[in-house]
Amino acid sequence: MQIKGRIVKKILIVDDDITVVRFLKETISYKLNLPCVTTSSFAELKAVLETSDEFSIALVDIVLHDAKEGEAVDTVLAKGIPVIAMTGSANAQLEKRMLEKEILDYVNKNNASSFDYAMRLIRFTHSLKEGEVLLVDDSRTSRLQVKFSLDKLHLRVHEAENGIEALEKLNEFPNIQLIITDKNMPKMGGIELTQEVRKIYSMNQLAVIGISASTEPMKSVEFLKNGANDFITKPFMPEEMLSRVISSLEMLYYIKLAEESAVRDFLTGLYNRKYLYETGMKLYQNAKREHLSIVVAMMDIDHFKKINDRYGHEAGDMALKMLGKLLNEKLRDSDVVTRYGGEEFCVLLTNTKLEYAVGVMENVRKEVEKMLIEVHKISFRMTLSIGLNENMVNSFDQMIALADQKLYTAKHEGRNRVVY
Ligand code: GH3
Ligand code: MG
Ligand code: MG
Repeated sequence: MQIKGRIVKKILIVDDDITVVRFLKETISYKLNLPCVTTSSFAELKAVLETSDEFSIALVDIVLHDAKEGEAVDTVLAKGIPVIAMTGSANAQLEKRMLEKEILDYVNKNNASSFDYAMRLIRFTHSLKEGEVLLVDDSRTSRLQVKFSLDKLHLRVHEAENGIEALEKLNEFPNIQLIITDKNMPKMGGIELTQEVRKIYSMNQLAVIGISASTEPMKSVEFLKNGANDFITKPFMPEEMLSRVISSLEMLYYIKLAEESAVRDFLTGLYNRKYLYETGMKLYQNAKREHLSIVVAMMDIDHFKKINDRYGHEAGDMALKMLGKLLNEKLRDSDVVTRYGGEEFCVLLTNTKLEYAVGVMENVRKEVEKMLIEVHKISFRMTLSIGLNENMVNSFDQMIALADQKLYTAKHEGRNRVVY
């Protein structure tokens, strides 16, 4: 899911084997639905890096026909782009040398299943670039050790020496998504910290990974019982830490994505009816309590059936998408813009007087009338009927019903108008 206002970074693929490039491009663009750029030589890579550095991660072949000594990997790393190196079986010596570098991971091209993990890494690195991690340990050496793994993911890392300090950091940096905490620390230990964190955040909102010594297996269980998402026992390999961090953050990401998609309309990207009622109810109660006003605007495209019949369903879909975009542009961020269903849209204008809302919606109506909708070689226009209601009556449902009645009047009086 695209997050508003965020720069879309791309995935960079560097390989001179056409089959591998094609396979990766297909997997990344169609399965992961991420944009990618492919280059098939060192020369081409350098040219691409000169014009753009908007890459979140790169998959780089170690040996290219015009860069046989791993120069491509070095060049991409020097740009600060995380690298997954791809190896064949060509030069074991070179591979060994490459793997000592700061690469995220490597993929053996002769082993198809090792691409799966690479795809997860790509998905992860791409979508969670803004993830922040809090590292809690009283030993600086231990923190450095974990930091070494995390730095490869280019995550922002905060540090704290005990539970108390950790809670302060959590307050200060609300974007922290994951806490990795040691068990035994002065002032407040890891278990108590986990308990405190769980009073504020659920496991789906903030992940906790507990670290304990392998000599105390029961402590790991204690972490889990107190709300940690996962644990790791000391001593651990950097790869294990990396893998657990990825799993935890990935889980949070998919939960967020699922929550988001449950309230979004697929076609227009606007919120759906479920969201309208959930949010509307809350806004309604708040408005009643605080004596604030809400205006409900219900709208319906005129003769939309004819648009479908005349220009095709695809043209109808385009009209819906363009109306969605227009509504997003014309309304304030604090207003709730939703697709109510079919060709009906509903907007909640908050803290607004009716006169102002009428002005805004009259402007929307005029803009829709002017808008030229183009699909392939067809172009056409449409009009919109709008009903407004500011009467709070006895419930949010009743507010919607009244706006709907005004919309009905607008249709009845000849369409392409605002009725309030
Ligand atoms: P009125 O001016 O009275 O609103 O007439 P209308 O034709 O717009 O209203 P009606 O409710 O008869 O038709 C709505 C049409 O919208 C019928 C349905 O096929 C179409 N529709 C609903 N959802 C979609 C969609 O997602 N895409 C497309 N292309 N059409 C849709
Ligand atoms: Mg209609
Ligand atoms: Mg309708």
